[in-house]
Parts: sequence; structure tokens; C-alpha cells
Amino acid sequence: MGSIPKKKVAVVAVGGNSLIKDGKHKSIPDQYDAAVESMKHIAGMIEAGWEVVITHGNGPQVGFILRRAELALSELHMVALDYCGADTQGAIGYMFQRALYNEFRARGLQKLAATVVTQTLVDRNDQAFKNPSKPIGSFMDEATAKQRKAQDGWAVVEDAGRGWRRVVPSPLPQRIIEQPAIDSLIKAGYVVISVGGGGIPVIEDEHGDLVGVEAVIDKDFGASILSSGIGADLFLITTAVERVALHYNKPQQVWLDRMTADEARRYLAEGHFAKGSMEPKIRAILQYMERGGKEALITDPANIERALQGKTGTRIVP
Ligand code: ADP
Ligand code: MG
Repeated sequence: MGSIPKKKVAVVAVGGNSLIKDGKHKSIPDQYDAAVESMKHIAGMIEAGWEVVITHGNGPQVGFILRRAELALSELHMVALDYCGADTQGAIGYMFQRALYNEFRARGLQKLAATVVTQTLVDRNDQAFKNPSKPIGSFMDEATAKQRKAQDGWAVVEDAGRGWRRVVPSPLPQRIIEQPAIDSLIKAGYVVISVGGGGIPVIEDEHGDLVGVEAVIDKDFGASILSSGIGADLFLITTAVERVALHYNKPQQVWLDRMTADEARRYLAEGHFAKGSMEPKIRAILQYMERGGKEALITDPANIERALQGKTGTRIVP
């Protein structure tokens, strides 16, 4: 008897639209409804035979925690960014676990999802620590910004006439601390939710102990090292667009079905992918390819199953 073919493993990095559809639907019940919708398509993918590891962004959710803490500052303590990361990984993981449980049950699938609170190691000498660039939290007036700078050591910047904002470093992820636990859970057949928000940023101190830092990790890069680390057969990124375009939002726009890593590098250099949105996704995919990745796909949650059948989405190959 031949051996049972090993199931293929995919990392699915779900974008912000899997939780917040638009500005009017930000409440927790709204986020759960959006999660249910995305998880249906991930369950469809699992039913089609994939083992799936899910990762997700957490930018807006971290913003909500910071705002709540700010409003309650007269009574309660502030929440450090590493704890915001842990809180959102737990809450978002719970939403996905419950949505998947119900969807698996409806489909008669014997599957269970489990969330791993994940720490991501960053280099304490990463240049990003000298150049905090990622704006987070509420806008402030100049006086408040200068006060937080003096009192709390915040780095603050003036944001194009819209007010002042705190900026934090966004160092590159180096290693996922809980990687072996994630591997074991995949092997045992669990649908693993991990590296949420790129993972909780931690550094190693001079003794080798882990210390949480006031930084944020780009979720696309976190998903990339997760994909390489577990040796995923596919790195799938879902976002608000069905496919990637050249000349995005311009009259001469063309949707791409497929590009090679070399083509992606060229389009990147030509400036087709907007900074802070599509650019990090393409860079994250290129990094995954450079580390031996075989296939990547970008589409929206509703088109996951069709994209896997080759009917839509943008496929990136080495
Ligand atoms: P996510 O939460 O999924 O990371 P982002 O807003 O960061 O979402 O990135 C996805 C967005 O990138 C798309 O919704 C689209 O508006 C934008 N985008 C920028 N350049 C392109 C491009 N060349 N092709 C398609 N979408 C693009
Ligand atoms: Mg993004």
C-alpha cells in the first residue's frame, strides 16, 4: 500500500477587512460577523484538503485599546504595546476559533482551531529603534505631544497638518519564539491561529531573557517568516482587493493573474505597489520566495476557493 499523501500546508494572512468591513462596522459584534464570513471561506479551503495556519493584523484593535486606556487614564493604568499585542491576539483568536468551530460543525468536519499567543523576536540593534516611524494612537495637540515626549519618552511627529501623533519603531521580525509549538499543533491536525499582528515584539537582553518592547511588527512580514519557518506550501494573503494591479486606480490599470518573483521585483521598483499597503505584501512574499517558498497568492476572502482553483487572484511564483 502506498503512503498517504501528506496534506499541503498554507499560511493564510487575513487582512484588516476580515474584521472591519468599513468605518460604520467597527463594534465587536460587527467584527465577529466579518470574521464569520472570512472563516467560511477558510473552512472551504480546509474542506478542499488544505491544512491551514491563520495569521491576522491588529492595527485598528490596538488603536481601540490605546484610546480606551487614554480615556480611562484618570483611574486606570496605561497598556504597553506588547500587552496590546497579547490582548488582541487572544480576542481575535477567540473570534476565529468560535467562528471556525461553528462552521466546521455545520459542514460535518472533524477539525478544531487553537490560538497560540506568539512572541516574535526582533533584533535590539534593529535600525528601526533609532528611527521610530509607525504612527499609532490618537492625534494630539502640540502641547500634549511635547508633554508625552518629556514625561513618557514618546517619539512624536506632526502629521501633515492633521495634528501630532506618537510614532513607534517597526523592526523586522527575526524568529518566532513559539515556532516548535505551532509545528506540533499543525502535525496534530489543529487549525492554528498564530503570529497575530506580526507577533508580540520581544528582544533578548544581555542575559538572553526576553523583554517586550514598545514597537509594532508588520503583519505581512510576520506572516512571511511564519510561512518560511513552517515550510508552508502556500503563502496566501487576503485583503480588500481580488487581485493585484499595475497602475492601480489609474485609467491604464491592469489586473495581474500571475507574476514571477523577478517581475514582482521590477514592478516594485517601478512603484506599482503603494507603500504601507500593497508594497509590504509583495516584499513579504519576495522574502518568502528567497527562503525557498514555492507559491503565493493574493485575493480577497470571498474568492479564496476560486483563487485556489486558479480562477482569480494574483499568483506569485519563483
Ligand atoms: P490589509 O489590512 O489587508 O493589510 P492594506 O490596506 O494594508 O490592507 O493593503 C491592501 C490595499 O492595498 C488594497 O485594498 C488596495 O487599496 C491597496 N493597493 C495598493 N497598491 C495596489 C495595487 N498595485 N494593486 C492592488 N491593490 C493595491
Ligand atoms: Mg496592511
